[in-house]
Amino acid sequence: MKEKQYPNYLCVHAGQLKDTIYGGATAPIYTSTAYDYRGEGTNLYPRYFNTPNQVALGKKMAAIEHTEAGMIFGSGMAAISAVFLAFLKTGDHIILQRAIYGGTSHFVTAEFEKLGIEFTMIEHVNEESLQAALKSSTKMVYMETPSNPLLEVTDMSLVSAFAKANSLTSVIDNTFASPINQNPADFGIDIIIHSATKYLGGHSDICAGTVSCSHEHMDQLWKTAKNYGGSLSDQTVYLLERSIKTLGLRVKRQSKTAKKIAKFLENHTDIKRVNYPGLKSHPQYQLAKKQMKAYGGMMSFELTQDIDQTKFLEELEVIFPALSLAGVESTILAPTTTSHSLLTPEERKEQGISDRLLRFSVGIEEASILIADLKNAMKKSRKN
Ligand code: PLP
Repeated sequence: MKEKQYPNYLCVHAGQLKDTIYGGATAPIYTSTAYDYRGEGTNLYPRYFNTPNQVALGKKMAAIEHTEAGMIFGSGMAAISAVFLAFLKTGDHIILQRAIYGGTSHFVTAEFEKLGIEFTMIEHVNEESLQAALKSSTKMVYMETPSNPLLEVTDMSLVSAFAKANSLTSVIDNTFASPINQNPADFGIDIIIHSATKYLGGHSDICAGTVSCSHEHMDQLWKTAKNYGGSLSDQTVYLLERSIKTLGLRVKRQSKTAKKIAKFLENHTDIKRVNYPGLKSHPQYQLAKKQMKAYGGMMSFELTQDIDQTKFLEELEVIFPALSLAGVESTILAPTTTSHSLLTPEERKEQGISDRLLRFSVGIEEASILIADLKNAMKKSRKN
C-alpha cells in the first residue's frame, strides 16, 4: 500500500465515514442500537462490533497499523483479554515478556490458572530465552515494546521469525510507541493491540482499545469477542476517530520534546537513571533505532536518594501526577503505587521496578516549560 508513507493522511482520511446527506466535513454519528434486520447482509448491533462508526474506525486502525482489518474495544484490557481468550484454550501455553503493563501481567496471573492456560514469562527476549520457554503446547508469544514502565525494547523481527518457525500467533502491545513511531506488522507481527486510552485518544478523556490484524485472525477474534461483549459506544468511537486525526502531529511533537527532556535528565546530578529508547545510553538504542521512527513521549527515571520523592511530586506545577498517560498534558506517576500496584513487591523487583521509579508522559507543552518545572521541583525537594 503506497499510502503507508503518509501516516497523517491516513489518520485523517482512512475509513472516514462520509456525510452524504449534507456534505459535512466530519463523520456522522450513528447511535442506533436497533437496526432493520431484513434484507441483504449481516445484522448490525453494537456488541457485534459492526455498526457504521465501529466499522469505519476499524478500517482506520487497519490502515494506520498496515494490516487488513481493525476492531475497536471498550478498553485496552478488553482488547487484550479478547485476544487471549480468542486464541488460547485450556491446555495451551503462552510465552510473555515479563516487563509489561501491570494490568496485563495481573490478568495472566489471576485468570489463566482458572482457564487452564499455562504461561512462561521471560526476562530478556532473545533467541535462547524464547527457545528455552517453548513447549509443544505453546500457541502464542506476547510482547510489549517499548514496555511499561521500563521502556525495554524487544526485537520484533526476532519474535515474528520465532513465531512463524513454531506456528505461534505473535502479539505486540504497541501502546507506548503508537502507530506513528512503530508498525509491528511491517516486522511480521500478527496482532497489534493498543490501549486507545493513551496516544490514540490523546486527550485523557476516552477509554478504548483496538486490535489490528489480518482478516483471518480478525474472523477468529470476532467470534469470541462478541460473546464477551467488550465493544465501545458509537459516541465514543466518534470521539476516538476525531482524536486520531491529530495523532501524527501530537506524537511527533511529544517524541521531539521527550528526547530533549531525557537528555536534560540524564545529565542532571539529582537523577540516578533515565530509561528512554532514544538515548544512546539505552541498552537497546540500536534496536530502537532500527524498528522505531522516533522514540516516543514516554520515559521513566529514578531520582537520587538526595531528593524527597513525595515532595518532588508535590512541587511540580505543570507536570500533573496522574494515573494514565499519553495525553496532551504532561503527567507523571510512581508505578509501585499505581500501574503496577497489583504486582507483589517480589514481582516488581523481578521486573526491575524500584519504588523510586517515576514514569513520565511528555505532553505537547514547550520543552523549556517542562524542564523548568522539573528543575524547580528537584531544587525544592532536595533533602539538604
Ligand atoms: N497496555 C498498556 C501498555 C497500558 O499502559 C495500558 C494501561 O495503562 C493498557 C494496555 C490497558 O489499557 P486500558 O487501561 O485502556 O484498559
